[in-house]
Amino acid sequence: MKAIVMQEHGDSSVLHYVDCPEPAIGASDVLVRVRACALNHLDLWVRRGLPGVAIPLPHIPGSDVAGEVAKIGADVSTVRVGQKVVLAPGVTCGHCPACIAGKDNRCREFTNLGYKVDGGCAEYVRCPEVNCIPYPENLDWVHAAAVPLVFLTAWHMLVNRAELQPGEEVLVLAGGSGVGMAAIQIAKFFGARVIATAGSEEKLAKARQLGADEVINHATMEIDKEVRKLTGNRGVDVLIEHVGTATWEKSVKSLSLGGRLVTCGATTGYDAKLDLRFLFSRQLSLLGSYMGTKDELRTVLKLVAQGRFKPVVDKVFPLQESGAAHEYLEQGKQFGKVVLSVA
Ligand SMILES: [Zn+2]
Repeated sequence: MKAIVMQEHGDSSVLHYVDCPEPAIGASDVLVRVRACALNHLDLWVRRGLPGVAIPLPHIPGSDVAGEVAKIGADVSTVRVGQKVVLAPGVTCGHCPACIAGKDNRCREFTNLGYKVDGGCAEYVRCPEVNCIPYPENLDWVHAAAVPLVFLTAWHMLVNRAELQPGEEVLVLAGGSGVGMAAIQIAKFFGARVIATAGSEEKLAKARQLGADEVINHATMEIDKEVRKLTGNRGVDVLIEHVGTATWEKSVKSLSLGGRLVTCGATTGYDAKLDLRFLFSRQLSLLGSYMGTKDELRTVLKLVAQGRFKPVVDKVFPLQESGAAHEYLEQGKQFGKVVLSVA
């Protein structure tokens, strides 16, 4: 099969479009013919290499897959050959206490397709049967692949971690990012008032189209001051963070009394300062979130199939141009997802 294979970590030139053997499947695995694979910031981290994380090389990246089942293992009973599927990115052990409790994103063996196991930047990918999720028939391959990782992440942040309530006020940082685009729609679905930030007028207009009630240009405005203006000096109940060092202090200052900040990433850096007086006197909650459960992804895809959530795709590249797609994602000019299409 054709695949994007990296032999070493580095810049986008380490991504090579080459011939390699089709993955062999075990008894409870499925081989999926990939039709589209969306990129995430995780792909950039995996390509560059993460300190303390050993990624087996050579490696095929890619976490977000839509495609058709091509082969099934001897024990597989819930999917058939030819069936269209979206794949849950999270691969887990399936038998630890967290997995049995349905909190599989807390499995100690948790990894993503394309992270510590080969992923979907290829014509075929192997995954466990339980990762196959029913396909939303109202979407084409590219849009279906744009759903799993970011919608699941945003859902887990808002619904599970922050326990968002109707009528609350939510600030979504970087509304044009994949997680941001999903979080705006999910927060509106739960009846929240949504304020979104972005770095250009064009992106702010798109955030409004997605449902944001108010927008803040974070390139020209002070986020915390604008939030105070927009909320009658109160601050927001829930804040969706994934930017990190560049926004952290202003994010904490944007919270209301009892506000909850949920973070799922740190694209601008890991270091953060915190004035502990703010934390206790304002009774804040700082919540970490990572991916979500397979059951949550099923719920999300059911709502996608009903047309309640619409994945936004910014640009599609053919698989062989993965390097150019990585460079485009690194520039941060996109609104929504960058997706690889696999012919
Ligand atoms: Zn487990």
